[in-house]
Amino acid sequence: MTDLPRHADVVVVGGGAIGTSIAFHLAEAGVDVCLLERDALSSGSTSRAAGGVRTQFSDPLNVAIGLRGVEAFSRFAERPGGEIDFRQVGYLFLLDEQEDVETFARSVSLQNELGVPSRLVDAAEAARLSPLAGLAGVLAATFCPLDGHAGPEAVAQGYAAGARQHGATVLTGSPATAIDVVNETVRGVVIEGGTIETETVVCAAGVWSPALARTAGVELPVEPVLREVVTTAPVAGLPDSVPLTVDFSTGFYFHREGPGLLIGMADRSQPAGFDAPTDPGWLERVTEVAARRAPRFLDMGIAHGWKGYYEVTPDHNGLVGEAVGPPRFLYATGFSGHGFMQAPAVGEIIRDLVLGREPFVDIEPLSVERFARQALRPEHNVI
Ligand SMILES: Cc1cc2nc3c(=O)[nH]c(=O)nc-3n(C[C@H](O)[C@H](O)[C@H](O)COP(=O)(O)OP(=O)(O)OC[C@H]3O[C@@H](n4cnc5c(N)ncnc54)[C@H](O)[C@@H]3O)c2cc1C
Repeated sequence: MTDLPRHADVVVVGGGAIGTSIAFHLAEAGVDVCLLERDALSSGSTSRAAGGVRTQFSDPLNVAIGLRGVEAFSRFAERPGGEIDFRQVGYLFLLDEQEDVETFARSVSLQNELGVPSRLVDAAEAARLSPLAGLAGVLAATFCPLDGHAGPEAVAQGYAAGARQHGATVLTGSPATAIDVVNETVRGVVIEGGTIETETVVCAAGVWSPALARTAGVELPVEPVLREVVTTAPVAGLPDSVPLTVDFSTGFYFHREGPGLLIGMADRSQPAGFDAPTDPGWLERVTEVAARRAPRFLDMGIAHGWKGYYEVTPDHNGLVGEAVGPPRFLYATGFSGHGFMQAPAVGEIIRDLVLGREPFVDIEPLSVERFARQALRPEHNVI
């Protein structure tokens, strides 16, 4: 059993993709870091994610962060190490409303300017790219071959193992109960049976971040919203390469998962809240959409299904920064359903904020103060 450290230069709270990536990047840079996870690594939203990794966003910050993520996932075996099953099969957004075609066309231009080889394609090409997709009523689609999917738990394990190799202490089964703040100064993180003294805390506790941040006097507007996915039983004759195909109007999506498919669909009327009930008719509605957008799904048996929380902010964009008060309380949360793919870049960014370096993008617009300033940062391409 790992001994509890009395002191760490930085304590990261949360052992999902985000917290483990932050711990890795800090430890690799020589920082004495302790990561606290109250349960098991990945036990929060990370283990529920569909694994989608993409550069196709409408916000230039998210495009840059997504591109950085793609690069990091491609080299994950060398740094930090570990097999994450990254499949660059592309993301294909099917668009059946003219307004969406126009918005996505603008996003493609932006993505191209930022070095992302996405493109607008017609329905015939979309059918070639994604042979399982039903294209009735599709006006156009966008495709980027860099995008794809990877294994969220493997990524968190890889980062945690890499962090340990660089000297980090990674503690599971270790809830942080409060941040010890005296006179607007971070003094430590309270755990069962004691306090780990520290001058710097990073809150990476996913949907549970607001409760922890409040103990430091910081308000983080993150709400839990349940999302559901299913996987099918093995299917004979599936194409090797199935792009992560999204029906943007309905939020229905699928990709290949082992010998079958993973299928999800956002219930956009799902209320926020830890106790909010989900729609018992969800699978029936998935089946209705699948009849149009993935007809072969109707012949496939369901193998598994699970639910997990999206960590949603008012503008569907992440919260990344350092609190105005207390300083040295940093946060990286609220990724609104795209936190897995953003984990590599966010780890780098938080490392740089901790060390007083310039991050590779200016993340000031992602600070929580944007809501008070009415400077929202709406991301259009969210599912
Ligand atoms: C169905 C579904 C599909 C998704 N698909 C995708 C996708 O395709 N691509 C994508 O990028 N994202 C996807 N997401 C979103 C993604 O899962 C999240 O954005 C991401 O996992 C957030 O990572 P995190 O590390 O911030 O949070 P989490 O993984 O939730 O990690 C936070 C951790 O903090 C721990 N914790 C909380 N409080 C404390 C405390 N006080 N002390 C110690 N530990 C604490 C929790 O136990 C948890 O392990 C999906 C989510 C769902 C539910």
